[in-house]
Amino acid sequence: MIVLNDVSKSFGKKSVLSHVSLTINPGEFVCVVGPSGAGKSTLIHLLIGGEQVSEGRIEVDGVELRDIPPPVLQLYRRRIGVVFQDYKLIAHRTVAENIAFPLEVCGVADAEIDRRVTELLGQMSLTEKASSLPDELSGGEKARTAIARAIVHQPLVLLADEPTGNLDPVQSLMILKLFQEIHRSGTTVLVATHDSTLVETLQTRVILLENGKVMRDAAGGYPQQSAKHDLLKEVEKPAVSAQAPVPSAPSDGSKKKVKVTMIHS
Ligand code: ADP
Ligand code: MG
Repeated sequence: MIVLNDVSKSFGKKSVLSHVSLTINPGEFVCVVGPSGAGKSTLIHLLIGGEQVSEGRIEVDGVELRDIPPPVLQLYRRRIGVVFQDYKLIAHRTVAENIAFPLEVCGVADAEIDRRVTELLGQMSLTEKASSLPDELSGGEKARTAIARAIVHQPLVLLADEPTGNLDPVQSLMILKLFQEIHRSGTTVLVATHDSTLVETLQTRVILLENGKVMRDAAGGYPQQSAKHDLLKEVEKPAVSAQAPVPSAPSDGSKKKVKVTMIHS
């Protein structure tokens, strides 16, 4: 269980989150919506311990995140899958090697890594891009690589920040179904998005953030409020600050060559 207890976050004098209290139960599917700048990405960075709260507490299974010693924090992050808004793909690793990364960090055997990576490449229609570097990918391919990397190790918690921002409607629907499948298998899922179609289709619990405050927290579709107008007009900024580390992070000294079984027709 993840509990935010009166959490505030400021960057310098700028208040980004203000007195946010939330409980996310194991196995829940939550959408966090709100206009650009509302604090959605900051919330995700706080949840992975990439940023520290300014006030209040975040507890994970009863333990305050701030008190978790670094080695245990690393283990905690290994149980989480994150799709960052700016993807944070490792530039010198191929698509297959990026997807393999969380499994390598968890010490999974090479044969199992090959099997899982091959499976995810197929599922994400990335098989032909397995050997490409992130720079050689379209926005949608980058997004699908980041999503594959976030779910390859079957995390207990999946945090996805605008996962469909770069996807066409068909790909978005595919990702939506995938997230529902992952949720059904027991993973807690939190999606930050301003994709009203996604939220309407999912019909999950929806938390509306505005100016760093929770304005609504209810089950059902997209909030029918004045915010909707702004949200639909919104042009989401392309990237958040690159300060937060990739969970189980790429110092990458242990880089392994990933063998991928390519299936040629
Ligand atoms: P959202 O994801 O809802 O668009 P963000 O959480 O990215 O919102 O940003 C909320 C506000 O916090 C924005 O005004 C943004 O400029 C600011 N912000 C985010 N990260 C930082 C940072 N590392 N330093 C300073 N300001 C930041
Ligand atoms: Mg954001």
